[in-house]
Amino acid sequence: MSRIAYVNGRYLAHRDACVHIEDRGYQFADGVYEVVYVSRGWLVDEARHLERLERSLNELEIAMPMARGPLSVIMGQVVAKNRVRDGIVYIQVTRGVAPRDHAFPDKVRPALVVTARRMAGPSAQAMEEGVRVISVPDQRWPRCDIKSVSLLPNVLAKQAAREAGAFEAWQMDGEGNVTEGSSTNAWIIDAEGRLRTRQLSRAILPGITRAAVMDLLTEAGVEALEAPFGLDEAKAAREAFLTSTTSFVLPVVQIDDAVVGDGKPGPLSRRLGSLYTRHVAGGETLVEAAE
Ligand code: PMP
Repeated sequence: MSRIAYVNGRYLAHRDACVHIEDRGYQFADGVYEVVYVSRGWLVDEARHLERLERSLNELEIAMPMARGPLSVIMGQVVAKNRVRDGIVYIQVTRGVAPRDHAFPDKVRPALVVTARRMAGPSAQAMEEGVRVISVPDQRWPRCDIKSVSLLPNVLAKQAAREAGAFEAWQMDGEGNVTEGSSTNAWIIDAEGRLRTRQLSRAILPGITRAAVMDLLTEAGVEALEAPFGLDEAKAAREAFLTSTTSFVLPVVQIDDAVVGDGKPGPLSRRLGSLYTRHVAGGETLVEAAE
């Protein structure tokens, strides 16, 4: 099956799709993105993703390339044209194409690319056995709340994890506290039994999975403390887990050389994992796969 990409108003064969060499995303990483999980044709928490996209763009004074409604239609089209039942939609908006100059160009139209591909959620093994993380210094800029395509520190952190045989790298601020993973939010159940994740600020991305898990916690009557936690506290935690659009809720069973709890996914992590998996599976807006 040939893949189709949406690029600035046109549906193109994926292998032929390209952007201009003076696209500011290419030259300056001057753009933002979103990744939405597709579950049985449902775009999971799409409204929240579109809201975050608009917020990221506003923070950078880039115009929305179109209103949320038509953008949502295009996302559905790309999912359908690529016959994605379970997978992801990727949306990227850059400031546009202009002669290279750091300051914003006078008149420029934002560039929009939407792609989709099949992808399974987290593996059963990762859900059952949990994953390992390493710690690395957080080398990012002070606006990590913006979902910018400028991901070099995240790339280096994830590569360090891969080379260490770990699933993720938890980034550490100057005070020895964990900010978040390279592409996931970080959570622990500390030695006193409190569920903790860092509060929203410019230091972390406001994860959509994080928000959905917060809702599930409210429904379940479980309180979460939104406050920073130290790497030492994480290593001494009863449980730990990470959240993201493509990882869902994954238990963390080892941080650097420290085994978390008894080295097996803890009860709350498992429970949240199954509640979130149910949330992903429970979509109502089904997109018909194109014939
Ligand atoms: N933090 C960072 C740095 C990320 O890149 C991501 C993935 N987008 C997340 C957290 C998790 O966010 P979400 O739940 O929206 O995928």
